[in-house]
Parts: sequence; structure tokens; C-alpha cells
Amino acid sequence: MNSCTICRLPVLELDGQFENLEAYYAEPDHPAAALVGECHSSCIANSSHGRTWFEWRVRGYSTNRGYRIAAEEEGWTVLVHSRHPEFLAFHVEGISVGGERRSKRGSDKVTVGGILVWVDEEFNLACDDDVDLIEEIQSHLQNEGSYSILAVLRLLGTIDCLRWPEALNGGMFVLDRKLRREWTSTTVAMRARYTRFLPSTVVPFWKNL
Ligand SMILES: [Zn+2]
Repeated sequence: MNSCTICRLPVLELDGQFENLEAYYAEPDHPAAALVGECHSSCIANSSHGRTWFEWRVRGYSTNRGYRIAAEEEGWTVLVHSRHPEFLAFHVEGISVGGERRSKRGSDKVTVGGILVWVDEEFNLACDDDVDLIEEIQSHLQNEGSYSILAVLRLLGTIDCLRWPEALNGGMFVLDRKLRREWTSTTVAMRARYTRFLPSTVVPFWKNL
């Protein structure tokens, strides 16, 4: 598990709750380049460097990457890919959302300012320095078949680092018997089922994928 480059607490890689700031887009000598790596979405949104990362990433993706700017609204800049059915959107605070066409979809849920869309993904958690956490998750999966994502965030001490807390209400890590074979004392492989937030500005792009 990586640590947040801003608050130094662990980052659980949940879609919509963290940002991966790639060195490729940064101006190396700029103070905002110190944030390269993973950070909580809430941390960059509260950081004075959020706007710089917004500018770097919009510039990076709209130049020679096959994306073009399709909308600019309510702080969001939406980029769509010219060949692939996918979009990316960056907010002036430094956070991002994205979407691509997928075969399987749950029903979207309308919420304040946008929608919550389902994520159901394989989730691998490696944690060399906290075997108790891995053991705790494994034991819940083994005994109950699932474990609350919010409970894990509480154990990590990062429950206050959520950008859209409502997206994780009811979110679960779920036992997958095929992935069970990959478990070790420091890793656990499972499914993660939760929702992520998409703001109103990008909803038309999501529906048109
Ligand atoms: Zn953080």
C-alpha cells in the first residue's frame, strides 16, 4: 500500500477516492512536483497545488494523447478520446474522474450533484508492515464472506480522507474463492464492490459511452 504524498497516511486504491499523479505531467522544478505519486482525492482538493495539477494533466492529456476537450463546466474539464469509448474529467481542485465502456453495469443511483455508479473489481491489497490488518480482513472474508470497506478505512485511520463518503456506504470487500489461493500473510486478493461519484457535468458522457 502506498502512502499519500500529502498526508502520509495509507492510500486504499478505491476508484474516485485517490489520485495517481504521474511524474510525466509535472514540471520537475515546480514545488507541486513534490506530490508525484498517490494521494487521497480529499488531500489534493485541499492542497494549494491542486490547481497546478489540474493544469498539468489537462495540458498533458489534450496534447498528443488522442484526447480533446469536449466540455468545460462547473470547474470540470471533460476530455474524450478520439478513437476509444472513454472520457476523463479533471476538476480545478486537482481531482479527476473517468469512464470507459464496460460490458457489465449495475444501475446508477442519482445523488446530490451527480450519480453514483457501481464498481465491481478485483482488489489486491499488500501490506508488509501491518500483518494484523491483512489477518483481520482475511478472517472476516473467511468467516462472513465479506467485510465492510468503511471498517477497513477505519482500521487504517483514513476514514476522514474520503472525498465522497456516501459512495462507500454499503461498499464491501467480498471473498472470491479463486483469489483465495493467492493469499499470503501480507497480501489479500478479493473483490471490491462499491460506488464512485460522477458529477452532473460528466453524466451525459457516461451515458453515451
Ligand atoms: Zn492524504
